[in-house]
Amino acid sequence: MKHTKIKDLLNSTKPIDDVTVKGWVRTFRNNQFLAINDGSVIHNIQAVVDFENTAPETLKRLTTGAAVLIKGSLTESQGAGQKFEIQAKHLEILGDSDAEKFPMQPKKHSLEFLRENAHLRVRTNVFGAIMRVRSVLSFAIHQYFQEKGFVYVNTPIITGSDAEGAGEMFKVTALAFDGTPRNEEGKVDYKADFFGKETNLTVSGQLEAETYAMALGQVYTFGPTFRAENSNTSRHLAEFWMVEPEVAFNDLDANMDLAEDFIQYVIKYTLDKCPDDLAFLNQRLADEEKTKPMAERSELGLLEKLNFVLENNFKRVSYTEAIEILRNSKPNKNKKFNYIIDEWGADLQSEHERFLVEKHFKCPVILFDYPAKIKAFYMRLNDDAPAERQTVRAMDILFPGIGEIVGGSQREERLDVLQQKIADLGIDEKELWWYLDTRRFGTAVHSGFGLGFERLVLFVTGMTNIRDVIPFPRTPQNAEF
Ligand code: ATP
Ligand code: MN
Repeated sequence: MKHTKIKDLLNSTKPIDDVTVKGWVRTFRNNQFLAINDGSVIHNIQAVVDFENTAPETLKRLTTGAAVLIKGSLTESQGAGQKFEIQAKHLEILGDSDAEKFPMQPKKHSLEFLRENAHLRVRTNVFGAIMRVRSVLSFAIHQYFQEKGFVYVNTPIITGSDAEGAGEMFKVTALAFDGTPRNEEGKVDYKADFFGKETNLTVSGQLEAETYAMALGQVYTFGPTFRAENSNTSRHLAEFWMVEPEVAFNDLDANMDLAEDFIQYVIKYTLDKCPDDLAFLNQRLADEEKTKPMAERSELGLLEKLNFVLENNFKRVSYTEAIEILRNSKPNKNKKFNYIIDEWGADLQSEHERFLVEKHFKCPVILFDYPAKIKAFYMRLNDDAPAERQTVRAMDILFPGIGEIVGGSQREERLDVLQQKIADLGIDEKELWWYLDTRRFGTAVHSGFGLGFERLVLFVTGMTNIRDVIPFPRTPQNAEF
């Protein structure tokens, strides 16, 4: 039996005689007004039930969460709040939902409670909106790169290289849990393992993507990434999705231009395609802000924040300038920061990043030219920096409310410099033979970055906890569902 999506019915330009709707009951008022949602749009459609001609047993089963089929006519609504409603002529309960037991009651639930019911939370307005926005954002990402002629590359999820250096890894093994067999030295004998070597879940597809950029020119990855980092924050997941473009012949400036243009494009795309969901999330955030003390409220609403990012260039600031700003800042002098900045070379904590973005510049910031010591080995060494203040062509993009959303760099294209760096870190060059081949055969300037997809979804939806923007979050001590 063909049914029409509620989104299409609500967008109808005229009444329609015969329509069929399938969806889930949100509320049932006065034994007459049934609000149904089918996930196609944030709004419910109201079905007016002919209660006098409906069996009382059936009416009793119209409880929140029940799956229903309604046939009737789409008519202009008399009531306020909707343009169209359905005069129900036929009503079927497809699946009952015990009102006493269904956890998603028609009332406001806390986000913590909803997290514990991640399989049902998507039936709420908030999570329906977030997940539709997430879907549109991921399509926008593909659209942006495809329009620009980038090639989508699928880098491996199980990797044999443990030199990516982006974070703690999850081991992949088919060996017995007790780690047998062992070799002569009493260590786990990975030669006997499935792949004949130690393997891990990927923390980044960058190194593999670089090899593809050196043939296809412009490539991007968009896939799951895993980090066994025990940082229980509102911005870290153990399993998250990352977008990693890599472009041959791009220097760091071109890399910054790309990142900025890309982020603005996907936000614009989503503003255009998701007006209803974003209006709803804008209101949700405004309501949440009202519960906070005045001093903690953000100056801009969600839609204002998104438009601000479209209309303003990201501020580009060198690490050295940023350190000066931080050193002279009030929270540094008053010892309000947990980590006091007193020396060039210090790694920036999220409190510092957020100070720069939210208090000092009040706009997205691109920090570049970081100390070589605190960044990965593959980043290009600046030749003009003094020996005791060596810097690399790294860039991090910092966003209000989020902190780091992008990390990227121009890559070291000179074989000898890269080999020296690898040796200094005590990494065995043999581990990276294939990576070094890109520098042996036709090396060229190239750059790329990684954007954490969930951090982007956080920003666009105005949510504050990363666990609320991925369907089934994986975090320390939590792999339910
Ligand atoms: P952070 O300092 O916030 O931990 P990072 O320096 O480890 O980030 P990168 O290794 O540069 O991050 O990864 C690229 C991007 O991936 C980051 O800018 C961020 O948007 C995202 N990201 C990194 N770690 C996580 C995580 N555990 N959960 C979600 N997103 C992440
Ligand atoms: Mn990290």
